[in-house]
Amino acid sequence: MKFATKAIHEGVAPDPATGAIMTPIYQTSTYVQEGVGNHKGYEYSRTLNPTRHALEKNLAAIENGKFGACFGSGLAAIDCVIKMLNPGDEVISTHDLYGGSYRIFKTIFEKYGLVFHFVDMTDVRNIQAKVNAKTKMIWVETPTNPMMNIIDIQAAAEIARAAGAWLCVDNTFATPFLQSPLDLGADIVMHSVTKYLGGHSDVIMGALITKDEAIAQEIYRIQNSSGAVTAPMDSFLVLRGIKTLHLRMERHCFNGEKVAHFLASHPRVDKVFWPGFTAHPNHDIAAKQMRGFGGMISFTLKGNHLEDALAVVKKVELFALAESLGGVESLIGHPATMTHASIPKEEREKSGVVDSLIRLSVGVEDVEDLIEDLRQALD
Ligand SMILES: *Cc1c(COP(=O)(O)O)cnc(C)c1O
Repeated sequence: MKFATKAIHEGVAPDPATGAIMTPIYQTSTYVQEGVGNHKGYEYSRTLNPTRHALEKNLAAIENGKFGACFGSGLAAIDCVIKMLNPGDEVISTHDLYGGSYRIFKTIFEKYGLVFHFVDMTDVRNIQAKVNAKTKMIWVETPTNPMMNIIDIQAAAEIARAAGAWLCVDNTFATPFLQSPLDLGADIVMHSVTKYLGGHSDVIMGALITKDEAIAQEIYRIQNSSGAVTAPMDSFLVLRGIKTLHLRMERHCFNGEKVAHFLASHPRVDKVFWPGFTAHPNHDIAAKQMRGFGGMISFTLKGNHLEDALAVVKKVELFALAESLGGVESLIGHPATMTHASIPKEEREKSGVVDSLIRLSVGVEDVEDLIEDLRQALD
């Protein structure tokens, strides 16, 4: 079955009780048993809930995996993955990781004896250089936020395999429509479902997907033991969102390309970071492992003045000034004062987050209107 068909049909079936074509919101904590241990597969909704279960099966299918697990946020999903490790284990990750992932690694898990290394993964030799007998996980995020760097998933998978470590890929930016990490050798895919999968800026949710039964059992054990599950109502909303994921992503890609080219041609814009440009330093890898380049774009202004960037994000009318990404509506953000404000200036500038950097999550509106909005703000 191909992607769109899976997105619409996998995991869901007409409700056996009523024929309702949409999976009902099973807003229930518990399930009546006919006798002790004699139930219909559901006992208590932390362990399993039918609406969440349908979504978990759907996510597993669209990621070309076998098992899915949904959590109360992307970070709760990350929390689960890291809890698979033991004190002394080492994790190698990218130096321009999503800020929240960096924070949970450093401020929550380091004190339990886990060791995290952050390297520039755009050169996979930097990953190899940190591998040792204690390496248990390689954590890749690609494309990265907000610099849109691309990491070679297949090369990272080979290093992980040889090291006897798991490869986990944060596939939030690309989505399973554009990138299939499990097919490239990853052991686990992680999502902030909050973003493109939900797609309508109305849910906070995370997910993990794997093909490996032993990994899945461990994920389900932690999901049930730690209890950071997602709600039936939110599961319903995301099931609905995923039915149009392929349509939305096509439009995000189309609009993203047009906006990237407009920005590149504007006299006040300095650099544009978008992996679809052949001049992007990792374009070849992006073209190899992605089926499109998405709607996330960052750019800097000539002169690199903070006040110019702040003026642009203030002047736009259609683009909403907000954190997050991946919804149908276009968003604009200023990483240096918003998402990356807690990182010292010197540190963040090393990874490219300079004062004039602006990040766009290009939505699915009419692209002419989006370009007109950016033009009036830049002019
Ligand atoms: C938003 C995001 C997360 C965290 O997800 P939440 O749903 O906000 O907890 C992790 N990784 C990436 C790439 C993200 O964009």
